[in-house]
Amino acid sequence: MPELETRRPGEGAGPPDLAGVGPPPPVKGFLETSFVDWRGAIASVLFLPGCNFNCPYCHNHQLAADPGSLMDLSLAEVLGRLKPFVGWVDGVVISGGEPTLHPGLPALCGLLKDAGFAVKLDTNGHRHWVIEDLARRGLIDMVAMDLKAPLNDLAYRRAAGCSVDLDHLRRSIDFLINSGVEHEFRSTIWPAWHGPRELQDMAMAIEGAQAWTLQALRPETAWDQAALGEGRPYTAQEISQLQKEIAGPAVGRR
Ligand code: SF4
Repeated sequence: MPELETRRPGEGAGPPDLAGVGPPPPVKGFLETSFVDWRGAIASVLFLPGCNFNCPYCHNHQLAADPGSLMDLSLAEVLGRLKPFVGWVDGVVISGGEPTLHPGLPALCGLLKDAGFAVKLDTNGHRHWVIEDLARRGLIDMVAMDLKAPLNDLAYRRAAGCSVDLDHLRRSIDFLINSGVEHEFRSTIWPAWHGPRELQDMAMAIEGAQAWTLQALRPETAWDQAALGEGRPYTAQEISQLQKEIAGPAVGRR
């Protein structure tokens, strides 16, 4: 697969390629500065509505499942509030919900790139063609993709709260690992669903990735606690150990 051209502020030739894209999507939330949404960077975060998954532990469930109950923010106002951050924050994270659902996502990325920001996309990875298109247009600098479970139908359906076409996820994984676009995988894990064997299966699915980050599922913020069944979350110490023993060694092997 050819090396992609991805642009950072001030790099690359000419404006982003926005041929044939619709108007920018609605923005439902805005965080001026975050130290946790882009590893190693200070970022602003935009939240877009809707999701094609229904994860029982979703911490943005209202945004994902009932976005009509949240007001749209004025994009002009958001861009105005971002302007003073050029050069101070490293970039803008487009999160959700699932941003790839919106046909106008390239337009939003283009506005952010034109304003001088690097752009990171948070995604569940299902709509691989959107990720590929954004990368080929030079509109994203970094992608964080969720890996919610081992790539088998039952495990993924339980974690995503719906049936998932795993081939779509495999296409995204393959694209990210082989395209040259900066990326990381992220997994929210729960002991009853993600024991050592499941984590090893997940590790094999993303072998060669640049990074894989584990975080503990917090049942107290899950919208559907019954779906989690009995159990307790991983402790910080356990997550750190799993990160060191399984997630760390799994990436960058090639
Ligand atoms: S993919 Fe993300 S936004 Fe969508 S339901 Fe799952 S956790 Fe929520």
